[in-house]
Amino acid sequence: MTTKRKKVSVWSDWRWQLRHALTDIDEVFCAVYGLNLPATRAVQARYPVFLTPYALSQLTPAAPTDPINLQMLPHPDELKTEPGIGPDPFAESGRAARCRGLKQRFPDRVLLMASARCAMNCRHCTRKNLLGSAETVNSQEQLAAAVDWVRQHPKVREVLISGGDPLLLSDRKLTETVKAFAALPQIDAVRIGTRTLSTLPMRITPALATALGKFRKVWVNTQFNHPREITLEAAAACALLVDAGIPVSNQSVLLKGVNDSADTMFELCSKLQRHRVRPYYVFVCDPVAGIAPFRVPAKRALQIERELAVQLGGLAMPRFVADLPSALYKTPVSECTHSPAQ
Ligand code: SF4
Repeated sequence: MTTKRKKVSVWSDWRWQLRHALTDIDEVFCAVYGLNLPATRAVQARYPVFLTPYALSQLTPAAPTDPINLQMLPHPDELKTEPGIGPDPFAESGRAARCRGLKQRFPDRVLLMASARCAMNCRHCTRKNLLGSAETVNSQEQLAAAVDWVRQHPKVREVLISGGDPLLLSDRKLTETVKAFAALPQIDAVRIGTRTLSTLPMRITPALATALGKFRKVWVNTQFNHPREITLEAAAACALLVDAGIPVSNQSVLLKGVNDSADTMFELCSKLQRHRVRPYYVFVCDPVAGIAPFRVPAKRALQIERELAVQLGGLAMPRFVADLPSALYKTPVSECTHSPAQ
């Protein structure tokens, strides 16, 4: 009995999950999951893997085209070069920070880089060329400077805390960061961008959900791309946040072989709605290097959106958009089918 209870509590400990992540795929792993060893080695040398025991438990052996495996395991085409596509299309690395870790692309919002790490290295990540090198807010003084900058710019009414994944911060550090911005009267929403609901759902504890809910300004944006990612543990994590009064929305990425059909999207959006998570956006892949295997043309995205709209009620219907480097808003896919990046 004692042993069983101990095992359960270790599995539910998000820090234990992170400490036991797999960071090097070897020969045996390749044999089990049907991967080519030299190609996998070459890809992981450029784009490392990070797979917690929870992530590993979601994989299917000998199924390299499985929609969950595709999001987690190296694919040889990640190293493919695509004309006109570079590592940093939004010039994030070069964009002048307002102060350390604070960036602004839109007039009413700022982005606070709170963590450079994630609970998983998603193979389709837009920021895969920048992760680990992001300039983040690391000290009380840096946080105070960021808050001060926002205070002096009253047009800013929303703060997006992202990274990396900000939920890899401790409860204390995360709530201190949220509190500092939520206390400003000009701020209507503190948005937390996190994929832990699908990649590390044990990170959402009752204590954290309650603490974040108390601010009455926190919104959570997450990323589920396939209905199978909504496991019992993920559903429980969503319920904790929603029950604490936190609106939770989902931003999927449209990924070839993962969710590029109206049927899969229907199942995903219905399941999200059942768990009180609003399907919000479906993004076509950004024009960034390293995600060639996942690209779905905008024309196909538009076709899926239209097929989905016929089946799905408006409350569960996400907007299919592209985040184009030159645009000041998310561009509907219907407007970008002729964009060279698409
Ligand atoms: S959690 Fe988000 S930022 Fe992190 S690797 Fe995955 S897609 Fe990229």
